[in-house]
Amino acid sequence: MPIYEYVCLDCKERFELMRPMKDADASVACRKCESEHTSRLLSLFFASSGGRVVAGNAPSCSGCAGGSCATCGH
Ligand SMILES: [Zn+2]
Repeated sequence: MPIYEYVCLDCKERFELMRPMKDADASVACRKCESEHTSRLLSLFFASSGGRVVAGNAPSCSGCAGGSCATCGH
């Protein structure tokens, strides 16, 4: 099952959820403040074989600044 990353538009909390692909764009409540003003970010996919993380094409990635980036794989 793919893992999707979401960001809360109210408190900026980022969190990941593993959910069925058909539910990827369904609204999800923020873990921290329970707001449903959340937005889906680039998704990380676990390949069904072996569980290897395959990075998608991020339009922008704040994690890259730190060197090791779990978001885009740089
Ligand atoms: Zn929140």
